[in-house]
Amino acid sequence: MTLELFTSIVDKIITDNAALNRPFFIDLFNWAEPMLHPQFDEFCRVLAKRKVEFSISSNMNHEASFVEVVRTAHGIRASVSGFSNEIYQRGHAGGDINLVISNLYRIRHVMDKVKRTPYVSVLYHVYKDNCDEGMKQLQTLSESLGFKFIPVYAYFMGLEKYLSHREGSDVFSEHDRQTNERMIFSIDEAIEIAKYGYQSDCILRQEQTVVNHDGSVPVCCAVFDPVNFVSNDFLSLSPDDLLAKKMSAPICEKCMNNNIHNVAVYNPKAMFEEIAIARMTDRKQKYVTRFNDEPLVAEVVYTEDGFELR
Ligand code: SF4
Repeated sequence: MTLELFTSIVDKIITDNAALNRPFFIDLFNWAEPMLHPQFDEFCRVLAKRKVEFSISSNMNHEASFVEVVRTAHGIRASVSGFSNEIYQRGHAGGDINLVISNLYRIRHVMDKVKRTPYVSVLYHVYKDNCDEGMKQLQTLSESLGFKFIPVYAYFMGLEKYLSHREGSDVFSEHDRQTNERMIFSIDEAIEIAKYGYQSDCILRQEQTVVNHDGSVPVCCAVFDPVNFVSNDFLSLSPDDLLAKKMSAPICEKCMNNNIHNVAVYNPKAMFEEIAIARMTDRKQKYVTRFNDEPLVAEVVYTEDGFELR
């Protein structure tokens, strides 16, 4: 995305939301790594100058100064999946957890230096094989730096592959299959559980607007294929037109008929969590993770009658 296009998009977001008296927040990422952009610091300055709250999600696999983003962002998220490269590289292929960890220290250093405290979180993607002592060590390290450690059950993206799979096509690559093998819930199980979610409409299409690097607009962050974009030009759309296009997007009907909109937000959360914990304790794991109840990472004490979480 050019800086000029980015600035125009941000200005339109500000104008449109002001007209509707609607608060908004910008996530400076979608399907990609924001800090790889050579003008990333400029993008942060554009938002800061306009007093727009924003956050980034990064895999932290690059050597960056972090000064501008610490100075300007509301939230900084590191997305991780292990504490040793042996585990981490199963999901973050080609990455180096040691670089990620050094960047967590660097962010803390910059925060202390510039005397600003954005909300920093370490988002841990939980698979069958990484909810272990290494995860616990990473939690301890993150919290020692003042960062929030948030475990989430990993799930598969994008949406088009879910739909093709449900329609009977063999769409998965060998790598997809290996990734799905590691998931706590298979795609079919997740869709079955999501049947019990209560959402009749999808909050993503009502509350989220995604704009790509070229100004095109996918119906939501879960879709990848350009045939499912609702516009090629965000700048030419009024808020009403945009909402109307999203509400009539053909892929949404298929998605909701298959309950995939609920999978994307793990609805119903209590049921997903109960099943995940049952799976983890069946495997006699020492740790399990939860969505909301503290501690998010609980230690399991196995008893004669079952188990307790501490
Ligand atoms: S219904 Fe599905 S495709 Fe449509 S916005 Fe929601 S998650 Fe995305």
